[in-house]
Amino acid sequence: MLRQLSVITLSCLSLVAFAEGPHWTYEGAHGPAHWADLDKNFAECRLGHAQSPIDIRNTRIKADAPDLAFAYQPRPLAIINNGHTVQVNETGAGTLTIDGHVYEIVQLHFHTPSEERIRGRAYDLVAHLVHKDEAGKLAVVAVLFKAGHENGALKTLFANMPVGAGPEHSVAGVMFNPADLLPAARGYYHFRGSLTTPPCSEGVAWYVLKTPVEASRAQLALLHKLYARNARPVQPLNGREVIEHL
Ligand SMILES: [Zn+2]
Repeated sequence: MLRQLSVITLSCLSLVAFAEGPHWTYEGAHGPAHWADLDKNFAECRLGHAQSPIDIRNTRIKADAPDLAFAYQPRPLAIINNGHTVQVNETGAGTLTIDGHVYEIVQLHFHTPSEERIRGRAYDLVAHLVHKDEAGKLAVVAVLFKAGHENGALKTLFANMPVGAGPEHSVAGVMFNPADLLPAARGYYHFRGSLTTPPCSEGVAWYVLKTPVEASRAQLALLHKLYARNARPVQPLNGREVIEHL
C-alpha cells in the first residue's frame, strides 16, 4: 500500500512539473466530472453550453461549405509526453485556410479512444491538429483512426516518442510533416465547441474529418498502453448545429 502510494505521489509530482495548472486526470476524484471543482479557471467545464467533444448524429448538409485548404510542410520533430497525451509541437509547419481565414498549426496530439463519436460510435484513436489565427482563435481538425494498415506518420512519431512524462524532446535529424496524418478525402463535420481539456474554453471551431485513416493494431495498442483512456466524455449539444461538408 505504502509502495503504491509513493508511486502515485511521484507520478503526480512529475505531472505538476510538466503540465501547467492544477492536477487533473481522466478518472476518479480529478476526472472529467470534477474538473470544474479543481480550479476556478476550470468553471467552463461545467457551466459552458458549447462544450466538446460531441456525438455527431444529426447534421445539416451544406453544399457551399468551404473546403479545408491545408498547406503544411515538414519541420524538425519536437515531441512531448505531457502526462495527459503525446503532443507534437509545431513551429512554422504551415497553415490551414478556411474561406480565406488563415490559421497556423501550433500542435497536434492524440486521444484514445476518439473523443468524438459518430452516431454513437467512438473510433480507436483520434489526432487533434490545433491551429491558431492572428487573433488567437482556435480551429481544431480531428483525424479519426481505425484498425488497418500500419500508419507511416505514426511510425515516425512512435519511434521517437518519450515513454514517460517529461519536457519537450527535440529529435535531431527527424523531420515530420503533419500532412502525413491527413486522409485523402477532406469532407468534414463542423460545429462550435471548446477545448476538451481544462480549462474547457469555448469559441473553438471544430472540423472532424469524415474519412478515418488507418493504424495497425500494434500501433493502436502502443498508444493505448501509454494512455489507456484519455478521452473526455461527450457533452450536450444544447441546440448547436452540425454542418456537414460533402
Ligand atoms: Zn485534443
